Amino acid sequence: MRLAVLSDIHANLPALEAVLASLPRVDAFWHLGDVVGYGPHPDEVVARLRAIGAVGVRGNHDAAALGELGVEGFNPAAQRAASWTAARISPETRAWLGALPERLEVEGVTLVHGSPRDPTWEYVTTAREAAASLAAVATRCCLHGHTHVPVAWLEDEGRVDLVRATDGLELALGTERLLLNPGSVGQPRDGDPRAAALVLDTGAATATWHRVRYPVSDTQRDIRAAGLPDWLADRLAVGR
Ligand code: ZN
Repeated sequence: MRLAVLSDIHANLPALEAVLASLPRVDAFWHLGDVVGYGPHPDEVVARLRAIGAVGVRGNHDAAALGELGVEGFNPAAQRAASWTAARISPETRAWLGALPERLEVEGVTLVHGSPRDPTWEYVTTAREAAASLAAVATRCCLHGHTHVPVAWLEDEGRVDLVRATDGLELALGTERLLLNPGSVGQPRDGDPRAAALVLDTGAATATWHRVRYPVSDTQRDIRAAGLPDWLADRLAVGR
């Protein structure tokens, strides 16, 4: 089975469309939350995910858009974007976001936004955090997002190694336990502005990372037209 794994789309429709147009054929789409927040197209992105039957989990920005998470921990631009999103999303978008679980187990794989220990908030950025995350899941493979940086954490006999996932990296999945982060579709933060996505092939036992160019200026234009903070537009050009 071949699965496209999308995370942190952040209401960036041009980025999502470019990814969907360029990925190889897949059997299903999974998403890892932060579908909305920061970006100018929340309803459009949710409608697109509904149309392709994507299943997934909620992120902290989705919870904030629903009013179910306070935004005190957000930076000022994120706070403004969360208020903007909450005020504008349609009842259909709200209902779809509201139905997303914090954690999902599908096809023997665990899906969370941040980490298995704290699906909403924890950033996994160290081997120690990755080891603790893997200790908190029953499945061999866990998919997570939140950091907006594509990486793989591989655990073998108690040792955890980090693999930085550049464009085109194909990882052969052996007997290790895995924590895989596809990176962000709509707001990459690893210095590469291209949209990021992961294709998991359970038959071939591979995970392949993809980077896709998209019309960044279209999203920037819509961010400015919406009155969202300029910084949210500027950062898309540099992937930071
Ligand atoms: Zn995010």
